[in-house]
Amino acid sequence: MPVPPASTFARLGQLVAIDKPSERSSRSIVEVFTGKELAQVPIGTEEDVEAALARARAAQKEWAKTSLQSRAAILRRFQTLVFQRIDELADIVQAETGKARPSAVEELLFVATAAGWYSANGPKILKDKRVQPAFPILVDARVRHLPKGVVGVISPWNYPMALSVQDANPAWLAGNAVIMKPDSQTPFSTLALAELLYEAGLPRDVLQTLPGSGQVVGNLLAENVDYLMFTGSTATGKTLAELCGRRLVGFSGELGGKNPMIVTATANIRRAALGATRACFSNSGQLCISIERIYVQQQVFEQFANEFVAQTRAMRLAPGYEADIDMGSLISESQVKTVDNHVTDAVSKGAKVLFGGKARPDLGPCFYEPTILSGVTEDMTLYKEETFGPVVSLYPVKTVDEAIERANDTRYGLNASVWAGTWREGQEIGSQIYAGSVNVNEGFAAWASHEAPCGGTRESGAGRRNGAEGLLKYTETQGLVTERFISLSGERWFPVKLLRALLPPLLKFLRIFPGR
Ligand code: NAP
Repeated sequence: MPVPPASTFARLGQLVAIDKPSERSSRSIVEVFTGKELAQVPIGTEEDVEAALARARAAQKEWAKTSLQSRAAILRRFQTLVFQRIDELADIVQAETGKARPSAVEELLFVATAAGWYSANGPKILKDKRVQPAFPILVDARVRHLPKGVVGVISPWNYPMALSVQDANPAWLAGNAVIMKPDSQTPFSTLALAELLYEAGLPRDVLQTLPGSGQVVGNLLAENVDYLMFTGSTATGKTLAELCGRRLVGFSGELGGKNPMIVTATANIRRAALGATRACFSNSGQLCISIERIYVQQQVFEQFANEFVAQTRAMRLAPGYEADIDMGSLISESQVKTVDNHVTDAVSKGAKVLFGGKARPDLGPCFYEPTILSGVTEDMTLYKEETFGPVVSLYPVKTVDEAIERANDTRYGLNASVWAGTWREGQEIGSQIYAGSVNVNEGFAAWASHEAPCGGTRESGAGRRNGAEGLLKYTETQGLVTERFISLSGERWFPVKLLRALLPPLLKFLRIFPGR
């Protein structure tokens, strides 16, 4: 499969939310496998953010009046288009990120199935609901979900299709207008999905893509939107949460992690080792929910380590667009440097390299081997800090309790994986881990279970994506309460004094009904 042609990027470039792109400075976007330029993208300025906000505010008023069914139908058409164009889309996201084909396809399947779930379930979640009133018959109480207004979505480079549009979709479904700021390295992936949404019927001003730097475009969005959805590092997340907090507008942050896996003595070791290759090295380990620490019960440690190394050795690391490549490139030279610094620091302090451990410039400018370490101690940087690359440390533990305690000994809490011999053992361990998602006998499948919310505890985030929570966060909940027949403030023919006298026995009587 080829690198997407220049005409594809030229077409997508016309969708940026910048009025006069030729008057802006631009940034070179490269094919990560080779470092060669794919296209230039204009860089948004303060003025462009102001214009995009004005368009969004005007469009949102009309958009909120459209029916939930018609919005859900757009999402369904979008899903069909993603399935139809999956090859072309995978080429674009691979070119921009350097990820392997399986990771690109997985990302797109995730986008498509999430759209399907929200299309089918969104209207039910968002529609007005009658709830228990103060008095039956005399009072009608309803819960309504009003759109927030304009939502900003700031996303990173690692899953540039899923983490921008996946979060924007529920926001516009709920009646908001959305402005997406993609990461500066990967704007075309986001634009490619925006193009499909327009084709599916979404108005251009309801969803805009504004490339530009975090410092300018990102900051200005945080200072002006009515809700901010951010995915990225914990450090940036804290800055943006503070900006939103000052204005008392909502913020949702999907941030960093140092995700643990536990392998018990009863687990199927072959399956656990194969699962670990996927959990640690998918997307070259640049996955917020990927595993960076594995706690293995002592009696099966050696068996697991040998099997894991063997399975990792069998992986194909290469540049290219073919489906049989297991792992691709890292995103950038600076990311290779971070990974290499973590590994070099650990090795210099006594860690043992069981597999990998070095950059592979022979394959491309940003390749690094899948790397397995043992003997990692607290004084090494990667013991507690997120590497965000294809590096994992193995630790033997005496008991399952010790594994749980060490898994929880972190400032993060994004994702965890448990491999156990029985369903019950897996559930028991999983329920003791303080993380936004826990996967039993899998690495990160929770991500694809769209009804199950996921996100982070502690410094891994605030708020949730997926499920009803991932939709309702983009709304203001309103209680609409209407009195009928008589006013509880009293009527001329029904004096308020009498009403007050009747209230206590009436309320006492109502206790015979459930929920009173
Ligand atoms: P980052 O530096 O925080 O950047 C992420 C996004 O924020 C980019 O679009 C960036 O824009 C923008 N940004 C940076 N500084 C900003 C500022 N001061 N104000 C407003 N926007 C700003 O994150 P990264 O290091 O590139 O991404 C990797 C991190 O993301 C890892 O820690 C990973 O764990 C986390 N992540 C979390 C999840 C999750 O779901 N929990 C998913 C994926 C990644 P520019 O780069 O264009 O300037």
